[in-house]
Amino acid sequence: MTDETGAGAACRDGSDRAQARIALSNSLPGSRAMHPVQLVRGVRKSYDSGGGLIHALRGIDLELVEGEFVVLLGPSGSGKSTLLNLLGGLDRPSAGRIAFRGTDLESFDRRALADFRRRHVGFVFQSYNLIASLTVRENIDLVTERAEQPMAPAEALALVGLAERADRFPAQLSGGEQQRVAVARAIAKRPDVLLCDEPTGAVDCATGVRVLEAIERCNRECGTLTLLATHNTAIAAMADRVLTLVDGSIANAQRNAQRKAARELSW
Ligand code: ADP
Repeated sequence: MTDETGAGAACRDGSDRAQARIALSNSLPGSRAMHPVQLVRGVRKSYDSGGGLIHALRGIDLELVEGEFVVLLGPSGSGKSTLLNLLGGLDRPSAGRIAFRGTDLESFDRRALADFRRRHVGFVFQSYNLIASLTVRENIDLVTERAEQPMAPAEALALVGLAERADRFPAQLSGGEQQRVAVARAIAKRPDVLLCDEPTGAVDCATGVRVLEAIERCNRECGTLTLLATHNTAIAAMADRVLTLVDGSIANAQRNAQRKAARELSW
């Protein structure tokens, strides 16, 4: 079973959310803390490709709760990135609703949506997107400077096992290390939602496992709702819940009785 009470020191400081989660899970022995974070109702997304409409999402209904780790599994083109982009406020649905802690994202204008992303959402993409001319510490500072209660870069880097790399430039790190910095950067603002789009897509298995360990640790220790999109079925074993997307619809939803540790995965 998931350790619902495992909020680590880096996240405990200043994190009312982690405390609330612990209190709730303590009051409900043996059950998950079910705080809804995001609600998705009847969401569709179509793109006008010029040669006709592409239906990327064809009616998604979802409830995503505090602390859970959800893997979105599906082949290329099944709609995983589109769904993450909508959840993270990078784009808007063509139809349907997405609510964050009870507020419809539709009600946000462009500026409010940007503010939502900045405060509440951490993104990790397949490409690391670190700024080459800034050190690791400066890359993290850049994202957290407008956050309310960010972690210090050193704390975030310790979470992903890279405390000693703070003064390096991205080019002085391996690909896997750069991706772990990207995870540290995403989590340092203490987001409510961590969205990871094929985070291991550009690295080998051993490196990918280390990246997944970093994501797993952030999810467990900070209690951050985490969604990870991948085509890699092996990764599904580390989730609480696996949603399989086929052609823009959830074809299968399944809970893992037990989460496998990232270090036990291979592909
Ligand atoms: P996945 O992440 O599972 O690979 P995507 O969400 O990226 O899938 O894409 C779903 C479908 O939507 C695909 O057919 C893709 O080509 C299409 N699509 C995604 N983004 C756009 C876009 N900006 N413009 C046009 N079509 C898009």
